[in-house]
Amino acid sequence: MDKPLKLYFIPYLAAGHMIPLCDIAALFASRGHFVTIITTPLNAKILPKYNNFNVHTFQFPSQEVGLPEGVENLSAVTDLDGAYKIYQAMALLREHIENFVEQHPPDCIVADFLLPWVDELANKLSIPRLAFNGFSLFTICAMESLRSHPLPEDASGPFVIPNFPQDIVINSTPPAESKTFMDPLFTIALKSNGFIINSFVEFDGEEYVKYYEKTIGHKAWHLGPASLVRETIQEKAERGEKSTLSVQKFVDWLNKKRDNSVIYISFGTMCHFPDKQLFEIASAIEASGYDFIWVVPEKKGKENESEDDKEKWLPKGFEERDNGMIVKGWSPQMVILGHPAVGAFLTHCGWNSTVEAVSAGVPMITWPVLGDQFYNEKLITQVRGIGVEVGVDEWVVTSFRGMKQLVGRDCIEKAIRRLMDGGDEAIQIRERSQKLAKITKHVVQEGGSSYENLTVLINELKQLRDCKVLN
Ligand code: UDP
Repeated sequence: MDKPLKLYFIPYLAAGHMIPLCDIAALFASRGHFVTIITTPLNAKILPKYNNFNVHTFQFPSQEVGLPEGVENLSAVTDLDGAYKIYQAMALLREHIENFVEQHPPDCIVADFLLPWVDELANKLSIPRLAFNGFSLFTICAMESLRSHPLPEDASGPFVIPNFPQDIVINSTPPAESKTFMDPLFTIALKSNGFIINSFVEFDGEEYVKYYEKTIGHKAWHLGPASLVRETIQEKAERGEKSTLSVQKFVDWLNKKRDNSVIYISFGTMCHFPDKQLFEIASAIEASGYDFIWVVPEKKGKENESEDDKEKWLPKGFEERDNGMIVKGWSPQMVILGHPAVGAFLTHCGWNSTVEAVSAGVPMITWPVLGDQFYNEKLITQVRGIGVEVGVDEWVVTSFRGMKQLVGRDCIEKAIRRLMDGGDEAIQIRERSQKLAKITKHVVQEGGSSYENLTVLINELKQLRDCKVLN
């Protein structure tokens, strides 16, 4: 092999951004390139243990921003003030990171689009920069369509994505604040040498790749599902936070269940539901009668709750019924989704969760909350037909600001039954999910679309490096 590339990856300080970007970093490293992840000490700890890249850390400025020791990312804070402090900390780290990169310049920087200043840094060093935001290309296209064809200012409720390859109706209009926040980030990301997408062309669809390249005039590199770089149960389990219960406990419990009989319920790392909402979810699970694994990070550290407190979010006797596992913290999601007993995933449609469900062939019950999730829902249900909707239409600005509407137990139970009770629709959804999962196995192997995209990207980056040397 000719001279390997030297790449720096700068993830944002949030589990849902770090995990996939580090998996993508591992893909580059698996081809023999020198990869360094730049982060802070505690975030370095949640990176997968088995890795083939270097990690360079900068002390997190806890005191300067007023966060307690031990809180270094968005997933560890529980309110808007905490989230703001993480943003502030990242801004304070900028100078340190810039100095390091300038003193030891790489051949390319791959950075989260929430760090727009990397654009200036890459220009200064005349090196290519790739942007990452953890969205699907379908979602990026939808957001760009709305930027160039804005909805009327007083628009509310469902809307059709303007000037789009397909007629897609989104359940709810994005809040104005999301647009104000995202638009400038997209403007800068589009100046990069391309977006890295943690998905595969067959899932987003060729039509969206063409649409993006022709209409937006920017390059998108589908390199995923990056999580497939983690092959063994151990590798899959040791990704992200430490699991609240041992991985073996989950596997042993699931081993006793029939194929496709368990519902896995998780809303990712950033959703914080009020007790009343948790009660509705619990009531729906109970009414459905299905076995379940339910991840409730809101209850982390509350193992010894009083009966009175417990009854605020769990119907009486819920835990005694013994047909499920409640996880108050972190679950080994990839291991759970990969078990044949899991028959459905009630999800907030976070992009990582979506791609992980697709890779495992698990159909989804969709309940988007914010951001890209409302678009992802449509790719899952309307475009690919691998899930059913709960029917949520409240789009919140941040998951810390309480939701106004309660999603009732009846519509949750109805969506669960649509998938789990069998019937023609459910059979077809399951078949499509399994077909797509088969494709994922192929795309990351030699000859597969994502594998070959990575080869082309690496060659382009080498050319850019070698031209620079000649100049
Ligand atoms: N995750 C996990 N266990 C948990 C919660 C989350 O392994 O208990 C992982 C999940 O597999 C995914 C990521 O954390 O890789 C969450 O990313 P996603 O985009 O789905 O949601 P976000 O947290 O960013 O909203």
